[in-house]
Amino acid sequence: MGIINDFFRKTGDSVKNTYQKMDASVKITCKKCGYEAKGYELIENSYICPDCGNYYRMSARDRIALTTDKNSFKELFQGLTSKDFLEFPNYQEKLKKATADTGEEDAVVCGKAEIDGNPCAIFVMNSKFIMASMGSVVGEKITRLFEYAIEEKLPVVGFTASGGARMQEGAVSLMQMAKVSGAVKNHSNAGLLYITVLTDPTTGGVTASFAMQGDIILAEPKALVGFAGRRVVEQTTKSQLPDNFQKAEFLLEHGFVDAIVPRPEMQKVLAELLILHKRRV
Ligand SMILES: [Zn+2]
Repeated sequence: MGIINDFFRKTGDSVKNTYQKMDASVKITCKKCGYEAKGYELIENSYICPDCGNYYRMSARDRIALTTDKNSFKELFQGLTSKDFLEFPNYQEKLKKATADTGEEDAVVCGKAEIDGNPCAIFVMNSKFIMASMGSVVGEKITRLFEYAIEEKLPVVGFTASGGARMQEGAVSLMQMAKVSGAVKNHSNAGLLYITVLTDPTTGGVTASFAMQGDIILAEPKALVGFAGRRVVEQTTKSQLPDNFQKAEFLLEHGFVDAIVPRPEMQKVLAELLILHKRRV
């Protein structure tokens, strides 16, 4: 996957134009079934295993390339990097490694884009950056995006993925939940639409705040979505949980999610929702 990501990072180009540059000899093995997909084959198939249907986790840039119109994405709020407030052991090394591995400054990419010609503000969390844990930079960038969207009267589309709050930033990371939630509320008070797309995995403080605050909440099939881990819930409630507990399908059955949308249809569904909720000025 790393090689594919490199391609997207360098070009920032649309999916269709990028995979054609991919060497057919690049092979990526499916973790579920062992199928060896050629790089371009996987991109053509929206990062879904052609053999078993397994959804690969995607980087933020790949997701943007797959979801938004070619050349429409304009990145916002670059240049923000995390501070090591607590002098937490190994945190600085971890940040450096995550930046080196992903080419990103932190775990979220924000910007303005168009989806089938419909303008929106968009944020995409990147599970490849310290499991997209939410620290001060993630919170600040998403807050600024909502403030920008209020000013520009834009809907917000947010792809969530997260292991939860970033423990290396302690209480500062927990404060981001309230900060982003306040910005989401202001955006809502301005009569603007917020759509979230829950991707695998969306957990912890992100689930407990802005992931679940969308006016419309979509999810990818089989995405893991929850607050505490399965074992913690089992031990606390002393109950047997169903196999699909905390999967998107379970959440849909229980009313937490409005629809499960297969990845290849996501762009079309988002565009339809944006058109349906367009402000008539
Ligand atoms: Zn597979």
